[in-house]
Amino acid sequence: MDFQLTDEQKMIADTARKVGEKFGLDYWRDHDKRKAFPQEFWKATCAAGIGGVALPEEFGGSGLGMLEMALAIENLARGGGGSTIGQLFMLNPIFGGVSIARYGTEEMKRRYLPPLITGDLVCCMALTEPDAGTNTLEITSFARPDGDGWILNGRKHWITGALSSGIMLIVCRTKKVEEVKRKTEGISLFLIDTGRKGVSLGRIDKLGTNTLDSSTVFFDDVRLDPADVVGTLDGGWPQLLDVLNTERIVTTAGLCGTVDLALRLAVEFANERRVFGKTPISAYQAIQFPLAQAHAEIGCARLMNYQAAVLCDQGQPFGTESNMAKLIASQACDKATIQAMQTLGGMGYASEYHLERLWRDQRLFRFAPVSEEMILNFIAQHNLGMPRSY
Ligand SMILES: Cc1cc2nc3c(=O)[nH]c(=O)nc-3n(C[C@H](O)[C@H](O)[C@H](O)COP(=O)(O)OP(=O)(O)OC[C@H]3O[C@@H](n4cnc5c(N)ncnc54)[C@H](O)[C@@H]3O)c2cc1C
Repeated sequence: MDFQLTDEQKMIADTARKVGEKFGLDYWRDHDKRKAFPQEFWKATCAAGIGGVALPEEFGGSGLGMLEMALAIENLARGGGGSTIGQLFMLNPIFGGVSIARYGTEEMKRRYLPPLITGDLVCCMALTEPDAGTNTLEITSFARPDGDGWILNGRKHWITGALSSGIMLIVCRTKKVEEVKRKTEGISLFLIDTGRKGVSLGRIDKLGTNTLDSSTVFFDDVRLDPADVVGTLDGGWPQLLDVLNTERIVTTAGLCGTVDLALRLAVEFANERRVFGKTPISAYQAIQFPLAQAHAEIGCARLMNYQAAVLCDQGQPFGTESNMAKLIASQACDKATIQAMQTLGGMGYASEYHLERLWRDQRLFRFAPVSEEMILNFIAQHNLGMPRSY
């Protein structure tokens, strides 16, 4: 067991730190207020070689792995973007990158990977449906055979970045539940232009992560061609899981950077702030202990996340580690950002001090991309051998 980073990993972390600091807190506050996609940040991240860190070199990526991606995200998030950086990395590196690099056709790889890696193209993923929710196997968006292709109808919601994306990975049924032996059969992945005829979007208003739009997506008789299929027709379920599992590592990395940032802001403020006499409020244990607790908790989650990333890069199962890291990181980050706001008193509530944004954004990750209840279900069943309760 070696806890040392290689020189290359240190360099990636350092490059990411510099990009994160170059943009800083005010950039993100401004974009949050304007609900604007962080285009300049993303282009700079890609120009620094970080957007394609885990994607194949022949298409412009660095050919490295999830550990390097986690290190990059943590450092970018710490510069000011917070947990939204994890979500941003889901778009091109995961939804577009992992799905196309592992399961796409050669034509898809040639056409889409280079602009995804440079940041000239954005990819979103349309999986969640209003009536299925967490129970993905209940999705009903259906592509019925038509000539050599299919006609898709259905509805998705909460699709991140759909309004900013050029392409969309769609998860739908190509066989109805009644036609298959197991619900995991009959699921397929398709990749299409977001502007394709029959696709329409409706923006969802929300609490945070305002720099990344969320949409309801309607598919009305959308034509799908054989060239749009990603991976195995009717057999897309395991491939979807492969794409989704890496989401947790990315999410946790963003939360680790957010806790570091929130604690730094809280400590800097508390060291200066004096209310009763000459003693700074940082000298009170009531202020110190919860911040120290958050620091300890996120340190544990970070290590577990690195373990998940290394296992993933070695091609070994990493579901338990990535789920546990995400569970603890999201809880630690929620507590840390709340406590950091509390430390600033009234100023914690002011957007000028950034903590309210960090808190709003990170709240999402208590229930997405996988909720803590579903992680606990997973641990109870897979690690403790208890029966499925639902
Ligand atoms: C801002 C945002 C961005 C998102 N981005 C995307 C995206 O880009 N693409 C995409 O496809 N989806 C996206 N999602 C959807 C997200 O993944 C889901 O919201 C999430 O998986 C939870 O599903 P749900 O909202 O339907 O909750 P539900 O499934 O309705 O669950 C509601 C609550 O019940 C609990 N619950 C459900 N079943 C059980 C059980 N068996 N045991 C215990 N508790 C249970 C859940 O844990 C949760 O707390 C996004 C969501 C948000 C809010």
